Amino acid sequence: MANVSLKNLSKIYKDDVRAVNNVNLEIHDREFVVLVGPSGCGKSTTLRMIAGLEDISQGEIFIEDVLVNDVPAKNRDIAMVFQNYALYPHMTVYENLAFGLKLRRYPAKEIERRVHEAAEILGLTLEMLKRRPKELSGGERQRVAVGRAIVRKPKVFLFDEPLSNLDAKLRVQMRMELQKLHNRLQSTMIYVTHDQVEALTLGDRIVVMHHGIVQQVADPVNLYERPNNKFVAGFIGSPPMNFLKGTILAEDGDYFFSDRNIKLRILPHFYSRIAQFKGQTITMGIRPEDIYDKIFAQDARPEFTITATVDVVEPMGSEIYLYVTSGSNNFVVRVSNQDTATMNQDLQVVFDMSKAHFFDPLTGIAIS
Ligand code: ADP
Repeated sequence: MANVSLKNLSKIYKDDVRAVNNVNLEIHDREFVVLVGPSGCGKSTTLRMIAGLEDISQGEIFIEDVLVNDVPAKNRDIAMVFQNYALYPHMTVYENLAFGLKLRRYPAKEIERRVHEAAEILGLTLEMLKRRPKELSGGERQRVAVGRAIVRKPKVFLFDEPLSNLDAKLRVQMRMELQKLHNRLQSTMIYVTHDQVEALTLGDRIVVMHHGIVQQVADPVNLYERPNNKFVAGFIGSPPMNFLKGTILAEDGDYFFSDRNIKLRILPHFYSRIAQFKGQTITMGIRPEDIYDKIFAQDARPEFTITATVDVVEPMGSEIYLYVTSGSNNFVVRVSNQDTATMNQDLQVVFDMSKAHFFDPLTGIAIS
């Protein structure tokens, strides 16, 4: 078991592409840390540098407080699970699981013990151990790939988008299996995905990356409730946070967020930070579940209520997404399936302004 420490880590490819830019991260022993961000943000490169599959351009990596910059991959005591499984097609499942241990010259009895233990943990039957990878389903193959990591009993598990090739239902199932696995093995796990739902459900802590730079490191609740900046706010959550453009008005000691048909009172705890933006256009962020159809709102004070036109009604089963327009702003309202709003209707919507976020127009950093 081990902690992993990244210090001022950068990867510069030729032509000065800074794929990873000065990343600092302390991953604790037994922690499940997820690196998440859009394609090309540098998460795989970071993982591959930890694994030793990619040279480090600048900075340092420590595993269990040992500097590993110059330690070859095979000596880092790390196991990596890839998206494409990377199983040997001509070997049986048993042989695939045993292969890494054979290479390392483990005694036959120990190999057999470890393979059966891994198979038991992952629910791979004796019959399955005799099959070749092509005789398995996608989910079973991914389980074998994980098994190959487990038998090694590594200090750290690395996962590079391991569920991307599976269909939606299997992904959800494998997600739960990975959580159980982490709970059972109590190992340090570092997991890369572009899927924010996967990140929220799996990570003890989540590292959001963009353009090679770490945007925020937080647990799932804090990441969702208190995004550092507009990028994180828009990336985490589905449907995503609404961004509305408006002007900050000051009237009689109060501040308002205002646009053509919109005038919403800002709550006083923002005043000290929002005052400097008086008269400026800024972005307000609010999640779809923090806007209510007035009929169902608990607190429908006029200063939190505006009129919007319903463009699209999207029933989702337990709830409905209403896509609405007010002036030049479009946003989504998430309501219960009891809501009867219809297309083209004018709807009174109430904003829970205690859940509003404001972002600096120049930097995108959250004003809070
Ligand atoms: P992610 O895993 O977040 O999708 P990557 O870490 O794979 O992103 O890539 C980060 C950036 O580095 C991308 O812009 C990508 O094009 C670039 N990149 C990745 N590998 C190489 C390479 N071998 N040579 C040059 N550029 C690369």
